[in-house]
Amino acid sequence: MFDTILIANRGEIACRVMKTAQVMGLRCVAVYSDADAGAMHVAMADAAVHIGGPAPADSYLRGDAIIAAALASGAQAIHPGYGFLSENPEFVEAVEAAGLTFIGPSASAIRKMGLKDAAKALMEKAGVPVVPGYHGERQEPDFLAGEADQIGYPVLIKAVAGGGGKGMRLVERPEDFAEALKSAQSEARTAFGNPAVLIEKYVTKPRHIEVQVFGDGTRAVHLFERDCSLQRRHQKVIEEAPAPGMTEEMRQAMGAAAVRAAEAIGYSGAGTIEFIVDGSDGLRPDGFWFMEMNTRLQVEHPVTEAITGVDLVEWQLRVAAGEPLPVRQEDLSITGHAFEARLYAEDVPKGFLPATGRLTHLAFPESARADTGVRAGDEISPWYDPMISKVITHGPTRAIALKRLARALEETQVAGTVTNLAFLGALARHEGFAAGDVDTGLIARDIDALTDTPEVPAPVIAQAALVALGLDGKPAWDQGFHLWAPAWRTVTLDWTGEARDLRVMVRGPGSALVDVDGLVVEALWQDGWQLDGTAAAPAARSGDTITIFAHHGISIRVIDPLARDAAAGAGAGVIEAPMPGLVRAVLAKPGQQVTAGDRLAVLEAMKMEHALTAARDGVVAEVLVTEGQQVEAGAPLIRLEDEAEAAA
Ligand code: ADP
Ligand code: ADP
Ligand code: MG
Repeated sequence: MFDTILIANRGEIACRVMKTAQVMGLRCVAVYSDADAGAMHVAMADAAVHIGGPAPADSYLRGDAIIAAALASGAQAIHPGYGFLSENPEFVEAVEAAGLTFIGPSASAIRKMGLKDAAKALMEKAGVPVVPGYHGERQEPDFLAGEADQIGYPVLIKAVAGGGGKGMRLVERPEDFAEALKSAQSEARTAFGNPAVLIEKYVTKPRHIEVQVFGDGTRAVHLFERDCSLQRRHQKVIEEAPAPGMTEEMRQAMGAAAVRAAEAIGYSGAGTIEFIVDGSDGLRPDGFWFMEMNTRLQVEHPVTEAITGVDLVEWQLRVAAGEPLPVRQEDLSITGHAFEARLYAEDVPKGFLPATGRLTHLAFPESARADTGVRAGDEISPWYDPMISKVITHGPTRAIALKRLARALEETQVAGTVTNLAFLGALARHEGFAAGDVDTGLIARDIDALTDTPEVPAPVIAQAALVALGLDGKPAWDQGFHLWAPAWRTVTLDWTGEARDLRVMVRGPGSALVDVDGLVVEALWQDGWQLDGTAAAPAARSGDTITIFAHHGISIRVIDPLARDAAAGAGAGVIEAPMPGLVRAVLAKPGQQVTAGDRLAVLEAMKMEHALTAARDGVVAEVLVTEGQQVEAGAPLIRLEDEAEAAA
């Protein structure tokens, strides 16, 4: 076994790998960018090496700097985590050329699975069912359109070099094919430097079911399946294991196909074979097809660990150190059911817009496994994935594991940035999901209900008023404004986007009334505040923001009445970059008339594209950026003026 390893990653996965490695007695070396000098993975490591600037290309993607750090710190092996260099065969070769061990598959295995078309051809040969379609070399539009006709609509166009749902287009009708092909190819060219596509039959009521495999270079075993059908824009949101409705017959067929796939390429280490499953008529052994293989540890690996009791990182380290597979297939079995929810800093109603910010408060319940790479006080920076944590629960049955997930999400406390916590909570309580009726369209179909923000209850607002006045702690006898002459006092809060005045009267220690828009809430102290009879939720205040940890976190701003009017009147005339990023497209032209909601530019940041739209009607006065330009957060991109101004 190694005595020192370097982890070529950051955040949650770097911490996850170190956790196991340190328990095994290994010394762990972290690498970090300028943006991560104070990050959790650096604090956790036994040693840390600075490798460059905050942009991934200047640090976490710099194979040479990482290998130099490993050699300088006495590491014998490099764990790549996921993302970044984890599926880069040239990096694997460079690691090995430096005399180090890559904790993962061989460069040749990664290469064989690197492009979706070649991987499909290879899998077909190995007897693994693949999605019907065209995955040959020809790329002429007319030829591909002909293939699409033969496959039968709907079809899916996929970038052969694709990943993260990019370069993919669903085409429902032949007349839309040419246009979709063009846009898929151009997206693939910019994102992957390779415009080649393949055409696939679009499976109806698709379910994404993947199989965890583990190989030692010759032999492989599978650790059952995970269902990752709860997706938004082809990206996973909640994963579970095993798959609901799975039959023993189909599990065996999928497991055997996955092992065949791994053994066909001499796979070593942890990998995932992703299948698309036709869920329109229940699960059947002939209704699954190979989509792609991810040649690394997957984000959602903890659900497999929860149901098998295997520590996949421990296995990765042991197999990389030359040990054979720790178990035989027949030694593996499933215990209970597990879920994982991905908690992100993102604004779900705004189209899952990634957010940034300093986490002023962060706490997870003891009852769930929380894999995180941040602590309270840390920043979700614009440079990387905005993941805050993964919340994982396990239970003897699916229903119990899901209830535990819903409860764990209710007890998770985050303040300082917008998150998808309420959305995850709504999913965990979704009836169809609870019934196991999942497919990849579920989120898009029910997005309105899942993002419905209920009105903030008056007791929560009343509690915030107490916090705002510093009255939330244990009351003292000298507390109150006029102990012997109760009087109303005003506090201004904003919980709807609009400042509202509330009135608070302290009647004596431990007794107050809060008037919320005419609704009077009674606050009584009984070993803690009770608001109209319900116990106050935990709360945190940071600057002028109060977060009440009820209903997945309600953020309320305290308004200084003097500052209130100064802010009013600022027009939405300038469209600014909401985060640092690359200007992908400029759609607005000077002099153009636009209406509120029109797309003006497209910004790429945090692995996603964001359309920037006009906040109001007007005329484009100035376009301040060009395509391909890198911009800072807050940079002015486009200036609008009113029609009257434009005419003058
Ligand atoms: P999965 O299929 O397991 O959901 P993806 O292939 O979509 O994973 O992405 C792999 C992971 O790479 C992401 O979930 C993310 O955490 C990590 N990552 C984070 N930042 C970056 C980055 N800037 N570039 C590449 N990968 C990143
Ligand atoms: P990526 O490399 O971007 O992860 P995948 O090939 O794994 O691309 O596909 C991503 C997602 O797109 C899948 O999880 C699934 O939701 C959907 N998808 C892919 N292929 C099909 C198909 N043939 N029919 C229906 N949905 C599909
Ligand atoms: Mg995939």
